Amino acid sequence: MIYKRSSQLFANAQKVIPGGVNSPVRAFKAVGGEPIFVERAEGAYLYDEDGNKLIDYINSWGPLILGHAHKPVIDAVIEKAKKGTSFGTPTEIETRIAELAVKMVPNIDKIRMVNSGTEACMSAVRLARGFTGKEKIIKFAGCYHGHSDSFLIQAGSGAVTFGTPNSPGVTQGTAKDTLLAKYNDLDNVKELVEVNKEEIACIILEPVAGNMGCIPPAKGFLEGLRKICDETGILLVFDEVMTGFRLAAGGVQERAGVKADIVCFGKVIGGGLPVGAFAARNEIMDYLAPAGPVYQAGTLSGNPLAMAAGLAMLTELDSKREIFESLEKKTKYLHEGMQKVLNENKIDFTINRVGSMISVHFGKEPVTDFDSAAKSANLGTFNKFFHGMLENGIYIAPSAYETWFISEALSYEDLDKTIEAVDKVTKEF
Ligand code: PLP
Repeated sequence: MIYKRSSQLFANAQKVIPGGVNSPVRAFKAVGGEPIFVERAEGAYLYDEDGNKLIDYINSWGPLILGHAHKPVIDAVIEKAKKGTSFGTPTEIETRIAELAVKMVPNIDKIRMVNSGTEACMSAVRLARGFTGKEKIIKFAGCYHGHSDSFLIQAGSGAVTFGTPNSPGVTQGTAKDTLLAKYNDLDNVKELVEVNKEEIACIILEPVAGNMGCIPPAKGFLEGLRKICDETGILLVFDEVMTGFRLAAGGVQERAGVKADIVCFGKVIGGGLPVGAFAARNEIMDYLAPAGPVYQAGTLSGNPLAMAAGLAMLTELDSKREIFESLEKKTKYLHEGMQKVLNENKIDFTINRVGSMISVHFGKEPVTDFDSAAKSANLGTFNKFFHGMLENGIYIAPSAYETWFISEALSYEDLDKTIEAVDKVTKEF
């Protein structure tokens, strides 16, 4: 493939944008080489500035569950834009999307819209602290909750890819309030709770992790956390920025049958526009300004264009629930196809999959937490795999710590092409 124009555009970007990108993982630094500049996208495909067509498994890092430029979403945005882009007043569409989200997601009464997943998680933690009057939080190594200070303690994905698990700029004071636990290790959480009795506001986690590859919660893990929280008055915060409206209409709460106290959303809820949200029962949400004392705000929060995209997306998912089943079938097909060729090619691998999230790890050991994810990521095989796939027209995330996001726009023919590419690339290992 030729990337002449992308290369020139990247050179231009580096002169005026730090590292040439507005979000670090886009830069291909972890896998080597230069990023591809995309000109347009439709359905399952990206078309780059050099005219290459790529089958997309990133889907804007998760939001585009129905594929690129999905017509109902695009039409809704165009119609809305004709009436103005932002008013800074309440609008009816904010209530409509809130009503729909509350209907789809179990155990929430109210939802507040923000502009990103980072804002959602940051605000959820502030609300948890305000509600409980406690300051510490427990987070899990390898879970990413956005780039706000208190979360940049052994965060997954981009933060690890760049070797800065604890970013400069995060103060000691902030870091000391974030207690770090091991994913899927209930005993570790119990110990932390015991030592910090009466000081912990919330436990925040990705209930299916997606930022150290895709890692399912072990049997009883989520239930165990719920029990600890019930016994201690600690709030359980599910960061469903990746999983919300993807793994089921009601996210992991619905899928696993475990209730969270606060749920964070992003990605799918905005249909590809900048939206995040957090939600809870009335008693917690009514602690938020202007109803309550915990301050949280945003000039563009609930922006009409973003709400139009989000409402169109959620309406599609709500009215066509069979999509979730179809996505799961496609992901299973891909899993089984890749498994077959990787076995035939005698590659050491582990594939993790939950719903329409899947990750391939180049190591034999099970990947169940950050340490096991890091072991296979550090073998260097992934980089060869990434570039081989790209050369064959398949665009997966440029980091061994990322999940592949399956979109409903992918056809079985696309999946077969992908499996063929995996075969071809790994034969040469
Ligand atoms: N939480 C999770 C689980 C995420 O995967 C991400 C982003 O990938 C975030 C929070 C942060 O979202 P955003 O990038 O929209 O700020």
